[in-house]
Amino acid sequence: MSGIQWLLLSILPRSLGEAMEKESRLWMQRCSQCGAETSIWEDGGIRYRAAGRPRRLRRCPTCGPNWHEVYKRTAPANDRNSA
Ligand SMILES: [Zn+2]
Repeated sequence: MSGIQWLLLSILPRSLGEAMEKESRLWMQRCSQCGAETSIWEDGGIRYRAAGRPRRLRRCPTCGPNWHEVYKRTAPANDRNSA
């Protein structure tokens, strides 16, 4: 868990913090080169009450720094999608 995640979860009401974590786990970032996906939450980020499909420059574990497309999954992120 990153510092900003810890900070938010510690100052927000528990129910709001849990909702924020749950939604952040649904937001995925996908590498434009190899297609590897990680959730925003796993990357140490927060994305809550957001919309759209922005592009971010992130470090891919395989390719290094690269553009990633951000999108929201429709199912809960209980398992890792290897595709
Ligand atoms: Zn990649």
